[in-house]
Amino acid sequence: MSTSLVYAAYIVAAILFILALAGLSRHESAKHGNLFGIAGMAIALVATIILAINGVYRSGLDEAAKKAGEWGLGLLVLAMVIGAAIGIWRARVVEMTGMPELIAMMHSFVGLAAVLVGYNSYLEVHGNPVYEDLMHRAGLTGIHNGEVFLGVFIGAVTFTGSIVAFLKLSARMSSKPLMLPARHWLNLLAVVVSFGLLIAFILSPQLWILAAMTAIALAFGWHLVASIGGGDMPVVVSMLNSYSGWAAAASGFMLNNDLLIVTGALVGSSGAYLSYIMCRAMNRSFVSVIAGGFGSDGAVTSGDTDYGEHREISAVETAELLTDASSVIITPGYGMATAQAQHAVADLTRKLRDKGVEVRFGIHPVAGRLPGHMNVLLAEAKVPYDIVLEMDEINEDFPSTDVVLVIGANDTVNPAAIDEPGSPIAGMPVLHVWEAKSVVVFKRSMNAGYAGVQNPLFFKENSAMLFGDARDRVEDIIKAL
Ligand code: NDP
Repeated sequence: MSTSLVYAAYIVAAILFILALAGLSRHESAKHGNLFGIAGMAIALVATIILAINGVYRSGLDEAAKKAGEWGLGLLVLAMVIGAAIGIWRARVVEMTGMPELIAMMHSFVGLAAVLVGYNSYLEVHGNPVYEDLMHRAGLTGIHNGEVFLGVFIGAVTFTGSIVAFLKLSARMSSKPLMLPARHWLNLLAVVVSFGLLIAFILSPQLWILAAMTAIALAFGWHLVASIGGGDMPVVVSMLNSYSGWAAAASGFMLNNDLLIVTGALVGSSGAYLSYIMCRAMNRSFVSVIAGGFGSDGAVTSGDTDYGEHREISAVETAELLTDASSVIITPGYGMATAQAQHAVADLTRKLRDKGVEVRFGIHPVAGRLPGHMNVLLAEAKVPYDIVLEMDEINEDFPSTDVVLVIGANDTVNPAAIDEPGSPIAGMPVLHVWEAKSVVVFKRSMNAGYAGVQNPLFFKENSAMLFGDARDRVEDIIKAL
């Protein structure tokens, strides 16, 4: 295949990636979006391998260079086989509940790759006097140094930031924010010192400058995410998604690969837009997200507020409540994912609808641990899309609703976000479930949600707790109906 055909294939792949993003933005077209993405990536891979083969066997290369190229091709195939084996194994064994941390882990790989590509690019030029001289004469040394520096910086921040996100999402690290004294000043210092090092590196590209910046960027990325509380993690996850895109684009510049630049920019900008949507959903400022450690400033909860007594309800009583209801809203949360209750919930929905009850779903934008987490689960269980509504579409309907079933949701239905200005989730829009006539909360205990905040909903007069695993309890209700 000629090089121009390879570039044509790159353009087709880039268009397929754009179609994939467009498809993934709606339930109905998400499957097609995935297929476009798979096709684009397959074309990109084949075209890149052909480009590498063309590079090795182009005329004018001496035997030694050809041998080195063939060795590189061998490594490429080996890396692809190992990568594909790990990818297929992980994709087969991962639980739906493990997806968020798996994605965070993958973001960290993109960051690490950008760091390694950056160091490789540095050594390729500055470790070879002939190449260095050529770059110098072409007047490209400064630009190349800037590319390497920024690529390594973004990559290192993405790497450690994503590792902390992985640890927090998999509950290997507390979801509470790390509150170092003067943490904003530390962040600012890291940025200012890194900027100074950038200027120094462009003027005199020495390895110790790159290494010093890498150490600062690794610590900066770690601190940026560690200082964010559990309730604000969705914005961080989408922000890291964006960072990983920019890290890939930076690698594209260093590798001179146009498709990687375009793809990285697509991921970077769509991730940034997703972060903006998340910020709006959580009523947080976009700028403070980028600065890190937002949202938890000065936010305190005593944790010992006495909200009174909670009331319990049985599955049979819940079934009776539902039989008498004419309108029901189900608000699922992370607990529905851990209990894998989506199929039972879909069965319950069908049963109630067959009895003439109006059943709808209210989805909070940050319910679960991934953007769109609940939508994916409900789609998997074949719940019709037209009864799955966004928070803004359904929030006004709670006062006219007979029964709300809160299935494994907590932070996203917590009235403290509205009533308690000192709460870590203060200001976050929530589903106003307590405005319905009756609320049944499915959970296993009185424990707090991911943000670590107690939920006064559980103690309201019209609320009742249905304790136990959400799937078991929903199945009990189906039996009782
Ligand atoms: P929460 O994480 O606040 O609460 C989930 C509740 O489910 C818990 O209180 C738990 O209570 C209950 N639960 C867990 N397992 C089961 C089970 N097997 N059966 C029944 N109940 C169960 O859920 P929400 O979805 O309301 O909120 C999501 C939180 O996660 C928000 O704070 C959000 O900011 C954060 N987040 C969201 C991300 C996203 O992109 N969507 C990413 C990162 C964080 P108990 O233990 O008592 O059973």
